[in-house]
Amino acid sequence: MSQPTEFGAGRPVVLRGGTVLPMDGRRVLPGTDVFVAGDRISAVGPSLDVPEGTAEIDATGGIVMPGMIDTHRHMWQTALRGYGADWTLTQYFVWFYLEYGKLFRPEDVHAGNTLAAIEALDAGVTTVVDWSHGLRTPDHADAAADALQGVPGRYVLAYGNIQQPPAEWATAPEFRDFVRRRITGDDLLGFQIAFDVLGDPSFPEQPAFEVARDLGVTVTTHAGVWGATSDDGIRLMYEHGYMSPGTIYVHAASLSADSYHRIAATGGSISVSTESEQSAGQGYPPTWAIRSHGIPVSLSMDTSVWWSGDLFSAMRSTLGADRSREHLESHSKGDTVTHCALRADQVVDWATRGGAQAIGRDDLGTVEPGKKADLVLIKNDASPVSFPLLNPFGHVAFQAQRGDVHTVLVNGRVVKHEHRLVGIDLGAARAGIERTIEHLKGEMGEEAWEKGMNPDVPATKILDNPYTYTDYRSDATHRR
Ligand SMILES: [Zn+2]
Repeated sequence: MSQPTEFGAGRPVVLRGGTVLPMDGRRVLPGTDVFVAGDRISAVGPSLDVPEGTAEIDATGGIVMPGMIDTHRHMWQTALRGYGADWTLTQYFVWFYLEYGKLFRPEDVHAGNTLAAIEALDAGVTTVVDWSHGLRTPDHADAAADALQGVPGRYVLAYGNIQQPPAEWATAPEFRDFVRRRITGDDLLGFQIAFDVLGDPSFPEQPAFEVARDLGVTVTTHAGVWGATSDDGIRLMYEHGYMSPGTIYVHAASLSADSYHRIAATGGSISVSTESEQSAGQGYPPTWAIRSHGIPVSLSMDTSVWWSGDLFSAMRSTLGADRSREHLESHSKGDTVTHCALRADQVVDWATRGGAQAIGRDDLGTVEPGKKADLVLIKNDASPVSFPLLNPFGHVAFQAQRGDVHTVLVNGRVVKHEHRLVGIDLGAARAGIERTIEHLKGEMGEEAWEKGMNPDVPATKILDNPYTYTDYRSDATHRR
């Protein structure tokens, strides 16, 4: 029996006997069933009675949690997975913004988005905000939307274009036309506008904010990015009245307390991309600072040009960065941290419910009757890491990984089961990516392609050492 038949359209599904994390606090429900009918979670409880014909999934030994939500990923860039592993932010800006981003054709955006969308489902990420800033023509935008609607996950297309000032593309008739044609209330395809506020005192981004307000859509913006966006951008947004509930501030890693106060007071949220902030240089991953401002947090991966599309990694690195900073600050004062402030359940919350709140979807992000059935079962009976399951939040944050994602449901539909994607054509996605790589390599030339991937390494000066080096190489005992 093939899997698509097994989980036929409309067939209810029950996940039996898992450890359920409802994400309504620190509650853990061991030995609990989750029953899904249509696109909703219908019941959560032990030994549920379910209708005849319900598909049963054995969740015993596993963890059932809400699908994870990534609130900022440049999905089109997944076509270049890993290419910029050794980049800084400066090298990224030069490559994408100045030199080669314009080489991406609509089919290349399609290829990247398709692969990123599939990757997300495979990793238990059921919703991704596609921070799509490569949309330099309406054809690119259609290609992005086509790709997202071609994969059975939930996406928010955050429309952007790094090749033009936002006041130009956002006010163009073609942009309005795209919104009218493509953003039609599909529950699986939301919409935002994505652009950055560079701090020019004349506030040239104002017309783009006006368009967003007129369309009733939220804005997502890279804020507090060292060398690019600063407190000035936040202040301009605030003074002109464009900091609204629903605004997502991405990174917010090099802002002053004053900017955090403005974000907190106006109801926005911060999308923290710890892996990105740690190696690209936007600023220190800010959770340690923004926790004390009470600003809602969600997690994101930013781009697979450098990093993974893996929110387990986001949870892990965010806990590590936050705790590192607390220890460091404390040691600098001669003190010792005796109790960790940031807990494992908090990062799991940020990866699920925090993302749902950031995108204004209170029907996502928890496992409760009536909520949309976007669910993940983490279970891997073949793995020595799957037991003992003593601390389920700690298990998700520090032990589990993508390969442990056993089953994924989006909108009640099983899209992954027994570690295999259901009804996904990975071969077609691979062929699309290969065509894109061939095109980019061909346009750039072999030398530029290689150079882009292998930036120069700055020299490290070995420090003068006051001690005499041991000449261990001439030591007879080492030579044998
Ligand atoms: Zn970004």
